[in-house]
Amino acid sequence: MKQHIRHWRIGDVEVARIVEVNAFEDNIAMLLKDETAEFVRQFAWLRPHFATAEGLMKISFQAFVLRSRGMNVMIDTCIGADRKREYDVFCNIKTTFLEDLAAAGFPPQSIDAVLCTHLHFDHVGWNTRLVEGRWVPTFPQARYLFGRQEFDHWVYLRNTGGYHDFEHLHDSIDPIVAAGLVDYITTDHQLTDEVSLFPTPGHTPGHVSVLIRSGGEEAVITGDMMHHPIQLTDPLRHGNFDMDRELAARTRQVFVERFANSQVRVIGSHFCDPTAGWIVRDGQAWKFITE
Ligand SMILES: [Zn+2]
Repeated sequence: MKQHIRHWRIGDVEVARIVEVNAFEDNIAMLLKDETAEFVRQFAWLRPHFATAEGLMKISFQAFVLRSRGMNVMIDTCIGADRKREYDVFCNIKTTFLEDLAAAGFPPQSIDAVLCTHLHFDHVGWNTRLVEGRWVPTFPQARYLFGRQEFDHWVYLRNTGGYHDFEHLHDSIDPIVAAGLVDYITTDHQLTDEVSLFPTPGHTPGHVSVLIRSGGEEAVITGDMMHHPIQLTDPLRHGNFDMDRELAARTRQVFVERFANSQVRVIGSHFCDPTAGWIVRDGQAWKFITE
């Protein structure tokens, strides 16, 4: 969906955003247990970008790609095509993802590295594509950066028949490993002198967020440390999607306190357009203001 491509500049770093599923509307109870539309409606600042007038939450599934010091890096790869997943909305979706990447200035063959903030199905899908019945790497000339701790955890889940759906490992992770394209990294990995990772565990054990610092400007890509800006109203509240809810809540609180009321632009991995903005104090809590 070319009309959803968005560009930012953080100092010398170019960032582009590619949307795969735009502004999906759902009940807030999906994210926050037992919560109601009425709860959503009380936060007027969520409208119109992040919630509907009726009190449904809106989330997008999107990827980011950045250029730093001549290096092109994909940050997460969305859901992917030709997938069989638990929910219909993610199955066999048809999009122009690769065309959009090229239109944004990053044709697939120009990608030098693919970083997955974590290994959930909606962040690894376009790692691969289906060609004549086989899953092959979408970016064969790139290095794929998987967190060591994150990867080991998913392998453990699969080996133990773990509590979490791991079908996507088969089509989105295994072919990359088999092709020898993986570099296993630590949660504080530095991509360039402008772009580094920092650990934001809880959603998954090895989850990372991405910090960009260049020319006196700063931005951070959240990953799934937070799914929706409504979580700023109570960062410590447990979210349904997090593997370790208590740890995820503490991580969110630390993140919010670190970046609130600062110049640091926050780019929310599932935040609907305009996606980027700033965390500011709002009474006892916080809210999100957009550009
Ligand atoms: Zn996600």
